[in-house]
Amino acid sequence: MPAQAIEMSSVAYPTDAQGIWCDVRPDARRGGPALFLDRDGVVVVETRYLCRAEDVVLISEAGAVIGAANRRGIAVVLVTNQAGIGRGYYGWNAFAAVQQAISSRLQACGARLDAVYACPHHPAGEGSFLHPDHPARKPNPGMILRAATDLGLELQKSWLVGDKTTDIEAAKRAALAGAMLVMTGYGESQRAESAALATARFSVRFAKSIAAAMTLPLLASLPSPPSRASRKWI
Ligand SMILES: [Mg+2]
Repeated sequence: MPAQAIEMSSVAYPTDAQGIWCDVRPDARRGGPALFLDRDGVVVVETRYLCRAEDVVLISEAGAVIGAANRRGIAVVLVTNQAGIGRGYYGWNAFAAVQQAISSRLQACGARLDAVYACPHHPAGEGSFLHPDHPARKPNPGMILRAATDLGLELQKSWLVGDKTTDIEAAKRAALAGAMLVMTGYGESQRAESAALATARFSVRFAKSIAAAMTLPLLASLPSPPSRASRKWI
């Protein structure tokens, strides 16, 4: 189901009928596994309620990892809870400006996000954003499942990188192969609870930062592009 653009203050945002931001690039990578990423504390430095473009600071190696996934044909999908919108601290206009700043910085690294999903609903939200347990708000898997539908993804081979147990739990509820908890952002305080989510079918890894995502089976097991000598000419 395509995102329904809702007109707000003369600017159309890619929010759907449930109020979820669903921004899929027209030329997004489709099919196969995906690399799901939480935003704050994983791709950008955690600043609590990031809402100003000038406060965007990419975490070291985020661009390199995302660029590597791009080049290997792995869809990169951002899934972010946006309680700040739900609580009325800022609006979609501020979110859009932050996302544009992130995209610009990634582009400078030769990297891009294939899709971005954001959930504004929160148990302490205002008005239509008040929801006790919205299916799209992590730890629920709604945004991941929506991305799988939109992009035709193989979730059982996909991984997520996050800095909170709620990220890891969303990945588990979406039946991903596993998730990596990084120590940037809130990661250090989330170790024990995240570790407890590991099962035989769901791996939980721990790493200093997103740089370690290069070691995930998703990226590490793929063969390098064929060298000139190994190409078959017909
Ligand atoms: Mg985070």
